[in-house]
Amino acid sequence: MGMQVGVAMELLRPLLADITADGLSLVGEVTAEELGLTEDDAVVLGPLAVSLDLTNVEGLVAVTGVLEGTIVRECVRCLKEYEDPLAFSVRAAFIPEPKSVPRHPKRVDPRNARAKVVEAEPEEEPDDQYQYQGNQLELAPMLREHVILSAPMQPLCGDACLGLCAQCGKNLNEGSCHCAPEPPIPTFRVVQGMKRKNGGPSVS
Ligand SMILES: [Zn+2]
Ligand SMILES: [Zn+2]
Repeated sequence: MGMQVGVAMELLRPLLADITADGLSLVGEVTAEELGLTEDDAVVLGPLAVSLDLTNVEGLVAVTGVLEGTIVRECVRCLKEYEDPLAFSVRAAFIPEPKSVPRHPKRVDPRNARAKVVEAEPEEEPDDQYQYQGNQLELAPMLREHVILSAPMQPLCGDACLGLCAQCGKNLNEGSCHCAPEPPIPTFRVVQGMKRKNGGPSVS
């Protein structure tokens, strides 16, 4: 398998010609900036390690591999920033961009002119499909999307995060506060009582 370990710009912009019948392996490090990631997208700590395998079957380039790095996220419970080690698989397909139709036809057939008003619905592409122009792939936008999509809906510094005290706002992971504990809501007993009422072996 062809192996290329190079600087980020080469890594992120492989030439189609470099993808031989054996494929092409790309291994290296890229920065968030090189992927086009802004701080609004994700706060990336240090470089991201990239390891990708590319295959080309009649112009359809399949990319598989792994992206690894550390993202700084904010916990939704305690609002503290924490480091989220990231390692996920990358899977994408690149197809050639369709050749553009000449924009200024010399003669316009009036019969066809009307048809132009009605535009076809844009065909929906699969999420992991990208296009390339000419003989070069641009991997950065695809990898950037993978990083953005890795963000959990509810980022937690840990499953056991105790969050903040609802009364004084203290981070309870750093120790308990002196607020009076709120009376527990007896949900459990109610549920148990209901279960008992409806319980018993059911005959069907
Ligand atoms: Zn937390
Ligand atoms: Zn408190």
